Amino acid sequence: MEQDQLDDLKNLLISQLEDLVKSGQETVSGLKDQENAYADLVDQASNDASQEFLFRIKDRESRLINKIKDALERIEDGSYGLCETCGEEISFGRLKARPVATHCIVCKTAAEKMEKIVNMTK
Ligand SMILES: [Zn+2]
Repeated sequence: MEQDQLDDLKNLLISQLEDLVKSGQETVSGLKDQENAYADLVDQASNDASQEFLFRIKDRESRLINKIKDALERIEDGSYGLCETCGEEISFGRLKARPVATHCIVCKTAAEKMEKIVNMTK
């Protein structure tokens, strides 16, 4: 991969990371405001529900944040953009659409097919 392509993807990852961190904070403060406003109205059950909802959002966000951090680390150590299964370069177009991708389209498609078969036999 060219250096300017790599810089391009690095900037993309950093801005995604910033967006996630920012929206995560908004989610938390938004829910807290709501909780304060309706504190007298909501019973314990719905409080638990909103806690769980918040937790699920945070969980999904933190997993994506970790993926982005991993990708940034791989850029630093030079292993970024290589498929974890076959070691081939992942195409720039694919990385541009999904900069946290760790597998080339061939391996990804094969893995998805496999997953479908496994799910069918469950
Ligand atoms: Zn591959």
